[in-house]
Amino acid sequence: MARYIFVTGGVVSSLGKGLSSASLAYLLKSQGYKVRLRKMDPYLNVDPGTMSPFQHGEVFVTDDGAETDLDLGHYERFTNISSKQSDNITTGRIYSDVIKKERKGGYLGKTVQVIPHITNRIKEFIKKDITNEDFVICEIGGTVGDIESLPFVEAIRQFSNEHGKSKTLFIHLTFVPFLKSSDEIKTKPTQHSVKELRSIGIQPDIIICRSQQSIPLDQRKKISLFCNVPIDNVIETVDVRTIYEAPISFFKQKLDKQVLKFFKLKPKKRPNLNPWKKITKIVLNTKKPVNIAIIGKYVNLKDAYKSLDEALVHGGIANNVKVNLVRIESDNLKNNEIKTKLKNVSGLLIPGGFGKRGTEGKISAIRFARENKIPFLGICFGMQMAIVEFARNKLKIKKAGSTELDRKCYPVIGLINEWDKDGKIIKGTDKDLGGTMRLGLYEAKLRNNSAINRIYKSSSIKERHRHRYEVNNKLKNQFENKGLIFSGMSPDNKLPEIIELQNHPWFIGVQFHPEFKSRPLSPHPLFSSFIKASKNYK
Ligand code: GLN
Repeated sequence: MARYIFVTGGVVSSLGKGLSSASLAYLLKSQGYKVRLRKMDPYLNVDPGTMSPFQHGEVFVTDDGAETDLDLGHYERFTNISSKQSDNITTGRIYSDVIKKERKGGYLGKTVQVIPHITNRIKEFIKKDITNEDFVICEIGGTVGDIESLPFVEAIRQFSNEHGKSKTLFIHLTFVPFLKSSDEIKTKPTQHSVKELRSIGIQPDIIICRSQQSIPLDQRKKISLFCNVPIDNVIETVDVRTIYEAPISFFKQKLDKQVLKFFKLKPKKRPNLNPWKKITKIVLNTKKPVNIAIIGKYVNLKDAYKSLDEALVHGGIANNVKVNLVRIESDNLKNNEIKTKLKNVSGLLIPGGFGKRGTEGKISAIRFARENKIPFLGICFGMQMAIVEFARNKLKIKKAGSTELDRKCYPVIGLINEWDKDGKIIKGTDKDLGGTMRLGLYEAKLRNNSAINRIYKSSSIKERHRHRYEVNNKLKNQFENKGLIFSGMSPDNKLPEIIELQNHPWFIGVQFHPEFKSRPLSPHPLFSSFIKASKNYK
């Protein structure tokens, strides 16, 4: 049976549970163990797909098309293990499954209750789809003490009771503040948080103390004493200079060693930290800046484009440059401001997006990048807007648009059934709006000798999608005659997946989200190439 490691958080949120779990997973994996990472989110949304990035940051998409919490992105980037639909669950999903079953009479007349029905469903999730993994690391969202996360904490308590202490380990991540006024490190919040955890029946085995500075032995001993955890299992994690240092730092603090010791296991091989050391060095020492503008709706929100921000950093690592993100809010972007705003940038990126707000500014910025030969990468919505811009200004289709934004436009972007009936362009009705999303991995065939073919060094790729609207393929020849090539197509040749501009140093739009597959230890070729082109701009 796999061993289960449950990670809870205490005192405050945003302590880096995701990063700690991902770093531990890397360390265990690199010592020869098979690891799986899972996330349980206490909110009532069935999945984060419908949540605004303002609320919850980016929606991360898996290979198998699940819309998940952004922590799964951390997991993938650190471990290079692809997450699955079955690796993220929310309270909303648990309740909706239980209620569905109840409506079908699945509980045979019993009173359906949080304990045992909700907790049973949570335990099913924890074990589901696990085969030969050595470790399953399950992170519980939220902070211990929240009403919302109680059923999850209760479920892991039961789980440990049922499967035995030798198969389950509890890690609690807390905050150990430093008070400037008294020049002291305070352990009381940690003591309280552990007390809270113990009041619901969980004694942590390892406590990870997040702190701004190293915790003196005396204070660690105090935590050990009051929280009833062996001193070697009080692990400190001091703020790192870059997140890529986290696996190195946890290794130094012997987190992996204590975990293996708990389960009476030995490393199968020496962990390899050299790649992390190498990229940490690059990130900390590279000074040469490359300014990349990102124009979007949520640019000022830290986590809204998490994978994208990361992928750009990876592109910088690949080229030994420091990527400076120039975040431009699209909402009130005026045409006459574009020149000034893009003055000092060497690349423009328009990310994915939904809805009309701020689109005209994006379209004008794309035109500016096209005409001034600034490297441009359009992702999903960004590619769609590049098509609209080109149709309006080069094909002279003045009313060109996307039906997502304007039902009366000439649909260069639309739902498939708005343009794909017997080769004629027809407009959809309101009923068509409920088209389903294209989610997860889809293949694209790349045209020989195209830029994209050279970048990927392959004629077939698979990338992750999350969109409803598609480029109207009926206009392909018109676009190509004017120099905008549809260089990547779906295998049935119906759906444009990649566009690129001839006579431009670097102008590429992709219908998918390459950022979800970029890893710090293997930067995505599209981002490496984009940053390289930007580095060489001017
Ligand atoms: N809103 C667009 C669509 O649904 C683009 C989505 C995106 O950028 N992820 O097709």
